[in-house]
Amino acid sequence: MNRTVSKLKIKHKIQDGKIIYSDLNMPAKPLFSKRYRISGKPDYIIKKDEHQIPVEVKTGQHHEPKKNHVFQLAAYCQILEENYGGFVPYGILVYNDTSQQYKIPFDPKIRFELESAIKKMRHILKTKKTARNHNDLYKCKSCSMRSYCDKKII
Ligand code: SF4
Repeated sequence: MNRTVSKLKIKHKIQDGKIIYSDLNMPAKPLFSKRYRISGKPDYIIKKDEHQIPVEVKTGQHHEPKKNHVFQLAAYCQILEENYGGFVPYGILVYNDTSQQYKIPFDPKIRFELESAIKKMRHILKTKKTARNHNDLYKCKSCSMRSYCDKKII
């Protein structure tokens, strides 16, 4: 295992389980979900108790898992179930600045929410119609889609 990855694993306090995939030391091959037609690359995957567990590392300090990060991790859980077979019971979200770590269960509720969110996204892509779901000027100011978005708050 690459030394950088080993150090990160210790830094993130994920010391049990073997790293079987990493996108941190060099670009990894994207994994694909046929069911949802989505692809993604978790930061790394550990194998623990015969389960593949995705680990996603985010920058910033958050006192609780952010919803978009939880959905991203849930998508990785789904992708791993399809690619490796078997049940993925949870994913791990790490906030890099504090090494705060959250175990996010891949339970029926999040599975349902993930499916609904993907259906909603597909509908938006098909109809090209969407509405802004916030009134936060600062969010728009720092948004990477700002130059393309016709719903931004000026
Ligand atoms: S610029 Fe558009 S996409 Fe970005 S946060 Fe604002 S409304 Fe949302």
